[in-house]
Amino acid sequence: MGQSIGVLVTEHIAVGLVKDNQLIGSIRLFPESGSNTPDILGGMPAGEIVERIGHEIEHVSQGQHIEAIGVGFPGINRHGLVEESPNLKQTKGLNLGEALASVFSDKGTPAPVHILNDAAALAAGIAATRGQLDKLVRAWFLGVGIGSGRYPAADGFSEGGHSVVTLDPKEQFCGCGGVGHLEGIMGHRAMRLRFLDLEPEEVFDGARSGDARCSDFVKLWHRALAAATATSVHLDGPGKFFISGPNARFVQTGLLDSYLNEMVKMSPLQGSAFEVIPTSDVTAIIGAAVSAEHAASAH
Ligand SMILES: [Zn+2]
Repeated sequence: MGQSIGVLVTEHIAVGLVKDNQLIGSIRLFPESGSNTPDILGGMPAGEIVERIGHEIEHVSQGQHIEAIGVGFPGINRHGLVEESPNLKQTKGLNLGEALASVFSDKGTPAPVHILNDAAALAAGIAATRGQLDKLVRAWFLGVGIGSGRYPAADGFSEGGHSVVTLDPKEQFCGCGGVGHLEGIMGHRAMRLRFLDLEPEEVFDGARSGDARCSDFVKLWHRALAAATATSVHLDGPGKFFISGPNARFVQTGLLDSYLNEMVKMSPLQGSAFEVIPTSDVTAIIGAAVSAEHAASAH
């Protein structure tokens, strides 16, 4: 296999060149690192997002031959079509696969484009970079929304971030509008809606210094992730759960372990573990590229 390109779209666009499950050279970022423009993609028209992605890919490929392009994109997308993307709502209905493929065939550098969920790209990247392509890898991505990824990719939907984790009808902060969802408790945007007077950092700081309202919420936050994980264990078996994303820094794995132990009691389902991994775009970029290579060679 030659070189492929991996793209990750989350709160920003990150693009890298990948060969033999490794990143070659540096990553291109939009917006550039250090620029303080949160949620810039949220306010950008869908067509402009496509152009931006195309522009960054061109920069990275530098006219070299590219075997495949993989794009990890938030939301439900199948066969290149964005069917729903709660945190980039304007992209609903966008055929990202076709739009990007036409950008490159116009430029005379056609390469098959493979679109997958951003968290699925992360899970594939963890499997590829840790030599676990033969194992079941599950990953939570804690950002503006909550992503859930699985490798090998399930042939259907992977919207574990929208797992129902509470029956309280007042829990309505999820980006998708659904009641009682994991993202409605854990997502960055949801936390800001809940605590109109505090930023998420301040909530976790408050819990550490003993503020009761903050402490209660931090327990709920962990309990919600344990609950969604328990559901995954009950449906898909025990195993390793990787946690990444900007808000993974707030995770206390000991607390998660103890809640999960309360929630999963059947002995064949015991033995799951959480691991917080550093948030870098590299893993998901590699995962997107490797998934695109697999998809291209399957055709
Ligand atoms: Zn939801």
